Amino acid sequence: MATRSDLYAFFYSGDVVLKLATAHDLHARYGEFLVQQLDIMSQLTVVLADEQISQAQMITMGMGETCTQCANRQGGGCCSRFMAGENDVLQLLMNLLAGVQVVIQQEDTVECCFLGEAGCILTLKPMFCLNYNCSHIKEERDAAALSLLERRTGDLLRKQAVLEQMLLDFFYKYL
Ligand code: SF4
Ligand code: SF4
Repeated sequence: MATRSDLYAFFYSGDVVLKLATAHDLHARYGEFLVQQLDIMSQLTVVLADEQISQAQMITMGMGETCTQCANRQGGGCCSRFMAGENDVLQLLMNLLAGVQVVIQQEDTVECCFLGEAGCILTLKPMFCLNYNCSHIKEERDAAALSLLERRTGDLLRKQAVLEQMLLDFFYKYL
């Protein structure tokens, strides 16, 4: 049986391409068994509901338009290749369990490999990406809207962390 530290190294280290390959491999080997784990699937449903709430707040605040304009300017937006490294195996696996087709969008050395034509393809994003509100966003929104967004994001991240712990416990038992 793998130790907890072996599991941590397996899930959280390495290049994003390797982490994605590992997530696909685990999904192929354990996906059917995972969908029978009612506690895990029920927590995934809770996380996806919070993601929708958080997404709705971003839409209300017009963040999509701000980011699209920013990404089209010289120098681009913030979805860099460096940020891609924030993705870990379990969070990529959560996306696969949620039915997201997680495939590399581009081999660019500057932009994040999950940045597609219409933005990030991931439904469940890394904490760093979710928490990142740049100066454009902070300057153009009022404090109440930003505070609500932070609360929504915090709720989502807390529930995502519970799901992550459940998956860690699952793999500690079965891997
Ligand atoms: S979060 Fe800020 S830096 Fe990143 S794309 Fe949006 S506006 Fe640009
Ligand atoms: S939000 Fe998505 S596309 Fe942007 S850096 Fe994060 S994972 Fe990559």
